[in-house]
Amino acid sequence: MPLLPKLTPKKSTWMTELGKHELLEEVIEQFGSPVNIHHLPSFGSNIKSFENELEKRELKHKILFARKANKCQGFVVESHKLNQGVDTASYNELKECIALGVDPSQLVVTAAIKEERLLRLAIQNEILLILDNEDEFIQVQKIANELHTDARIGIRVSGFTHEDQKLYSRFGFDIEIVESFICNNLTSNKYSALSYEGLHFHLNGYSISQRGVALNACVALADRLKEKGYTTHFIDIGGGFLVNYLESQQEWEAFDEQLRKAVKGERDEITHGNNGLGYELLEGELIGRLNTYPYYNEVNKSNFMAQVLDYKAEGEKSNAQLLREKGIEIRMEPGRSLLDQIGMTVARVAFRKQDSKGDWLVGLEMNMTQMRSSSTDFLLDPDVIFKEKPATNDEVEVYFTGAYCLEQDILLKRKLSLSKLPDIGDFVMFINTAGYMMHFYESEAHLFDLATNVFYEKTGDRPALVDFARDAHVQQLV
Ligand SMILES: *Cc1c(COP(=O)(O)O)cnc(C)c1O
Repeated sequence: MPLLPKLTPKKSTWMTELGKHELLEEVIEQFGSPVNIHHLPSFGSNIKSFENELEKRELKHKILFARKANKCQGFVVESHKLNQGVDTASYNELKECIALGVDPSQLVVTAAIKEERLLRLAIQNEILLILDNEDEFIQVQKIANELHTDARIGIRVSGFTHEDQKLYSRFGFDIEIVESFICNNLTSNKYSALSYEGLHFHLNGYSISQRGVALNACVALADRLKEKGYTTHFIDIGGGFLVNYLESQQEWEAFDEQLRKAVKGERDEITHGNNGLGYELLEGELIGRLNTYPYYNEVNKSNFMAQVLDYKAEGEKSNAQLLREKGIEIRMEPGRSLLDQIGMTVARVAFRKQDSKGDWLVGLEMNMTQMRSSSTDFLLDPDVIFKEKPATNDEVEVYFTGAYCLEQDILLKRKLSLSKLPDIGDFVMFINTAGYMMHFYESEAHLFDLATNVFYEKTGDRPALVDFARDAHVQQLV
């Protein structure tokens, strides 16, 4: 039988350090299964690496952590301590940031739906609102009038042209009409309470050149607006900076090749039910494409952002040069990329069995919503932490299954090869889950508790239970 392809995750020292059965037993006993473990110092390192690139280019800047990528308060507190901001997308996110003591000047609201109480809270606290459509202008004007104050606004822009194609988005004002919209409306009495501060975009997908072109178009728009009397203080390029999850490009390519072979029936299955993860067989022809996050990326995180800044759309000058010359502040809202190497999800093994096809299933005390994103599958090999070390020749192939009463609660669609069958009470560590995976789709069906979120920071020679604190207990700001 051909071997199952491996996908070895990139893994920080702190993650390896926690791979001890006795320790995880205490942690799960205390916090339940699954538990989401986070590491704040690594979050700080990620922010630093972004800042380094910005400082190298002598750019005025602000990094606004996209709160929606992880629910923990700890990251809000840490962003604030590191003098960076937070991008909020709901009333509760904004309310919590304010309650935690984050300075209003460090907050932005980009919510797709802005209910009245959210607008009110933002305007009362002089927090920047990124507006998406004219109905929001009307609402903001009305509330600001009621409160006898002004509202700080930025404008979301979309519809950029990239390689002769217009990029579709359901968000924002079209780049071709936004200039006349601003010039015809902002000076009129209609929106007298709105004070324009800058431009914003957030693009779907992970293209550097699309972001480069969009940033360049915003700089050009800022120039035209300046002539009409509107000063653009910042341009916010949103998020979507790629992360590299995997050790090896060769493994990534081999996986893709083996998956295609499996779907074509040229080898035994490597996914549950021979799920093609986007590939399909149509009348003997392989169609479709891998529908997951692109887990292997040479250019990632702060380097990805740097390439957007260094992009030259036209002429000799890069975006960074243009921003520097014009004194425009660059802002960004990274979510996933600031959470790289920050978290893992650990679950306890509940049972082992063979299904009706003879495949081994390992049931875990967690469910499919506790490790899920909009991507079709999470393609990283988990670590199994055994109590009894495996003997040399016990290799077994398994699927991990979850607690929801659905046939599709298969935690990873991939079949995995383990050095032995786990025992009840062994632990499975899913690596690098802090960005979206652990929280974005988590639900409470069956009245299961939501997973506990904890922060780990080593205080002694060896990691111990006292090194773990619940998110709610992470030190409050003063
Ligand atoms: C989701 C989102 C982000 C963060 O995106 P990442 O891919 O996590 O970096 C930033 N800004 C806006 C407006 C978003 O919707």
